[in-house]
Amino acid sequence: MDILIKNCDLISMSNFRARYEKNMCVYIQGDKITKIGKDVTPKPGDKIIDAEGKICMPGLINTHTHLSMSIFRETLDGYTLQDWLTKKIWPMEDKLTKEDIYFASLLSCLEMISTGTTTANDMYFMTEDTIKAVIDTGVRVQLTRTIMDTDETTKTRIEELKQLVEKFKDKNPLITLNVGIHGLYTNSINTVREMIQYANENELPVHMHFCENEKEVQDIRSMYNVNSPVDIIEREFKDTHTILAHCVELTEEEIERLSKLKINIAHCPISNLRLGCGVAKTQKMINSGINVSLGTDGQGSGSNLDLFDTMKFTALLQKGVFEDAQNMDSYKVLEMATINGAKALGLEKEIR
Ligand SMILES: [Zn+2]
Repeated sequence: MDILIKNCDLISMSNFRARYEKNMCVYIQGDKITKIGKDVTPKPGDKIIDAEGKICMPGLINTHTHLSMSIFRETLDGYTLQDWLTKKIWPMEDKLTKEDIYFASLLSCLEMISTGTTTANDMYFMTEDTIKAVIDTGVRVQLTRTIMDTDETTKTRIEELKQLVEKFKDKNPLITLNVGIHGLYTNSINTVREMIQYANENELPVHMHFCENEKEVQDIRSMYNVNSPVDIIEREFKDTHTILAHCVELTEEEIERLSKLKINIAHCPISNLRLGCGVAKTQKMINSGINVSLGTDGQGSGSNLDLFDTMKFTALLQKGVFEDAQNMDSYKVLEMATINGAKALGLEKEIR
């Protein structure tokens, strides 16, 4: 059944339309928008939605989350990032079953739909069970099998990622894949190199946590014997389409260096605030030409998957913390939550 949405106020992220048009019609045939105009005549039997007084806009894109963490909502209890991971989250994750992953992901998919998010970039494990929830709810997700090189199971993890790619790459238009490297501080340089090579060979983006707090920066400096974590990105990631989540602890000079690479940044302000990490210099990143999108992180640290919350924090923090009311106008923030997310995931042709 085709759908006509009529009388809506349309917000467009296209360069070829006005940003805001009143009393518009949007016609959807199958899974594609085929007409947008003042007057569109439906066919007999079409579903008609009268959207008077409502906004019609692109679906939001959450470029950093962990869908299975809906069952760890609000588990921070004043922990730092590293204590929260090692003392609370990782021990609980060790006990998760495939059924837990399916239902936890299902809850997150429902939360996405109810808050206007149609696409997410997920980083977790037992990924096939998340994929079942994605298929059951019809959302669009880019997924991975997260690689951490912290114990003897690294080889198994890498094997699981490769199997996932073999089974799901190019099979379902709503499901794409990337190579999830948990972080530089949870992997050896050899594993990082192996994963980048695998991503390049299979034309997949890389998704990684990066410079979330000061301790992480210190750990990377001592583990890799570098002055700056950006040294590793310049050396190892230079030809790789990469989505770096967080990037809170970056100097302006480091931001400039990242802007020369194929780096996309997923800004997750609420998670960063709740874990006491700080506020990323997001406006500076945008000014330097980096593609910056938005993420909620998992509900454990981010509380929810509501990108409207994230958009509000993004705008207010950049204005208030950096003392410039001109920072982050509303349309710029909407771009971060929509088209910039599509670019980050390499999906800008499919979901403009
Ligand atoms: Zn995360």
